[in-house]
Amino acid sequence: MDSKKVRTRFAPSPTGYMHIGNLRTALYAYLIAKKNGGDFILRIEDTDQTRYVEGAVELIYRTLKRTGLLWDEGPDVGGPCGPYIQSQRMGMFREYAQKLIDSGHAYYCFCDKERLEEVRKIQEASRIPPMYDRHCRNLSPEEVKAKLDAGVPYVIRQKIPLEGTTTFHDELYGDITVENSTLDDQILIKADGMPTYNFANVVDDHTMGITHVVRGNEYLSSTPKYNLLYEAFGWEPPIYIHVEHIMKNSKEKLSKRNGDASFEDLIEKGFLTEAVLNYIALLGWSPKGENEIFSLDELIKEFDIDGLSKSPAIFDPVKLRAINAEYIRRLPPEKFLEYAEPYIRQSVKREDVNIRIIAETLQPRTEIFTEIPEQVDFIDALPEYSTELYRNKKMKTDEATSLIALKEVLPVMQALDDWSIDGIHAKLFELVEKLGVKNGYVLWPVRVALSGKERTPGGAIEIAAILGKEESLKRINKGIELLSK
Ligand code: GLU
Repeated sequence: MDSKKVRTRFAPSPTGYMHIGNLRTALYAYLIAKKNGGDFILRIEDTDQTRYVEGAVELIYRTLKRTGLLWDEGPDVGGPCGPYIQSQRMGMFREYAQKLIDSGHAYYCFCDKERLEEVRKIQEASRIPPMYDRHCRNLSPEEVKAKLDAGVPYVIRQKIPLEGTTTFHDELYGDITVENSTLDDQILIKADGMPTYNFANVVDDHTMGITHVVRGNEYLSSTPKYNLLYEAFGWEPPIYIHVEHIMKNSKEKLSKRNGDASFEDLIEKGFLTEAVLNYIALLGWSPKGENEIFSLDELIKEFDIDGLSKSPAIFDPVKLRAINAEYIRRLPPEKFLEYAEPYIRQSVKREDVNIRIIAETLQPRTEIFTEIPEQVDFIDALPEYSTELYRNKKMKTDEATSLIALKEVLPVMQALDDWSIDGIHAKLFELVEKLGVKNGYVLWPVRVALSGKERTPGGAIEIAAILGKEESLKRINKGIELLSK
């Protein structure tokens, strides 16, 4: 392995759920690798078998592929540092722990559950933070051998220095120093011979040549212990980048319970993958200029660790919608039609309407696809509506003026053969001119008569074109009838 090459990793635990905070970690790790011509590695951290969820690994693959965060090495593509599934790497950890025992940085601990429980109770009673009391730390080699020979179950613990401090550097938080006396002699190898998560994580990062570790700042308090492990092994620690939480508001974290926290939920709600990825890049990172719309390739160019923020980001659904709307506007019309058609078809079953015009009308106005069915629900059948809809102060219309306008419109539209947007537009504006009125005087009542709704995607002309001549005339007649009562 080229020792200078940047190597980052995404190390998700397969929980069956892709929190957008995790996806953001993956994105930042990916960007750091790609910006520096490095490798992005996928490692599945599945050592906690009690949390095993069927299909969870597939969900990780699917999400990363969908968002374009393609890994250079990983369980399915292989690579020089495999296996990339943590549970398949179990054999080597015991040997690494042995090295630490031999060099005096780890020790056997034979304390049983009952004893540890007693210690914990006493500490709790005297309000001391619970920590292992280092009972086995100074057993003589003979005592250790005797217990091992007798088959007493044991764990292996990290021998944290009793005095002094440990300092590590985080790219965002700077140098962080902690008193060693506050650090627990944590377990590295459990009684069943398996590594703890913290130990496996460090050994895996090193043996995979990881140069930059991007992870949530809930790991910040464990990092001094990680760093001491690197030191004990004589390994160079990676560059740490601990990113802030994503919050729902100033108090609560964005969580599964709070909704909106998973990538899949957002996609199901009708957001575009590219828009979600773009938005989450901005949750904790600020670009240098004004522009906030970036494709993944553009993010690779723009991204800079210096732009990462030390304060928690608040998930802003309004901003996500605005970004999504921007992506929707930029879609080629054909693509928009492809995405939008299933949503349109949830409401519009009629075959005689012009679906292309529906799509063209919707595209500049759509923020999120799932709102489309409700927006086009008037197309198949005119809803019951109150004639109050014809009253509009700004347009200077009311029931009386609308009746006059619709009566003028009817024959003009009846006589129209070219039922296209341009054809309808020309005719209605001719009428506006002839009557010497404002556009709204004619267009507002026509739109209400055609839709029976206060708000519609598109105005009178587009709706008429969508509905076709026959249906449009029927609805205008219906409007005249309602207003004449
Ligand atoms: N497996 C950990 C998680 O899913 C990742 C920890 C790390 O990135 O170091 O939260």
